[in-house]
Amino acid sequence: MNDSIVIGAGAAGLSAGLTLARARRDTLIIDAGAQSNLAATGIGGLLGHDRRPPAEYYAAGRAELAAYPSIEIRHGEAVSVTRGEDDVFTVALADGRHERARTLILATGMEYRHPRLPGLGERWGTSVFHCPFCHGWEMRDRPMGVLATSAVGVHGALNLRAWTRTITLLTNGAELTGAQRDLLSAGGVAWDPRPIAALDGPGTSLETVTFHDGDPLPVTALLVKAVLYQRSPLATGLGVTLTPPDEMLSVEAITVDPMCRTAIPGLFAAGDAATSVPPSMAAAVASGYLAGASAAVRIAAGY
Ligand SMILES: Cc1cc2nc3c(=O)[nH]c(=O)nc-3n(C[C@H](O)[C@H](O)[C@H](O)COP(=O)(O)OP(=O)(O)OC[C@H]3O[C@@H](n4cnc5c(N)ncnc54)[C@H](O)[C@@H]3O)c2cc1C
Repeated sequence: MNDSIVIGAGAAGLSAGLTLARARRDTLIIDAGAQSNLAATGIGGLLGHDRRPPAEYYAAGRAELAAYPSIEIRHGEAVSVTRGEDDVFTVALADGRHERARTLILATGMEYRHPRLPGLGERWGTSVFHCPFCHGWEMRDRPMGVLATSAVGVHGALNLRAWTRTITLLTNGAELTGAQRDLLSAGGVAWDPRPIAALDGPGTSLETVTFHDGDPLPVTALLVKAVLYQRSPLATGLGVTLTPPDEMLSVEAITVDPMCRTAIPGLFAAGDAATSVPPSMAAAVASGYLAGASAAVRIAAGY
């Protein structure tokens, strides 16, 4: 039996694994290999790795873990998890195998749901992005759009002024209130309520947003609101609670304490799956470390 199983080998899961490895705990990391930022060309804002391609970062993390004998990273998918009366977790994998551990860390990331428009999906993570702190620098001084319909869009558009002065809030058919229009005018931000037909440009770059009336608007970077949802029912199946939807991100995060413990003894959660603040690589690394340490402490205490 393993001391710990970590589901997910993104920034959070690898960080948890490193902490457990250094605590000499037998740990199996199961990962399906779909880290949420793989579409991006570089990681923005992670100290020590700024602008590094995500795949390169994950390969480096795995290489660091390979130096420790008590860690196995296995490609696979966890399809269900149960917790027995003996407090042991059993993880069923898609390949039919079952693995057991005294502690379990969920580092499964989140599904980022972005608006659906023709031409948007293929630009997600490059010219279309959800986080200005991650990708605003690379898009600086270009004509930018913000696609959002609520007050969040107004704040997002005003916030973008740190990166460019040419900003249009696109509400895709929704009308703004008078107060919202006044705020935008005072901030020097344009808005356009016309319904959008498509995003256009060569490859993954963006040149124009085309409205249903056929008019093109020059926009070379588009900030969109993404809403984060649990990727799988693994967490809820174990009986954890999720935080209520958040106004900014509507995060459906697993409720954890400051040491990444859930209310279920032996079950920890880290990274996007358990964050109710704006998601980031730095936060995922930090919470993965805490979850790994918490699991190691529980194991050492003999539970
Ligand atoms: C397009 C995009 C760009 C971003 N750019 C930046 C940036 O520049 N800077 C920044 O700080 N943040 C950025 N972020 C946010 C950042 O990527 C996330 O906060 C971070 O990746 C979260 O790490 P994580 O380990 O929690 O989850 P993830 O990186 O999503 O990793 C979760 C892993 O768990 C695996 N998994 C899930 N379920 C299972 C299962 N049932 N069985 C096995 N494996 C499973 C997945 O396959 C995946 O490999 C970006 C996000 C997106 C979507």
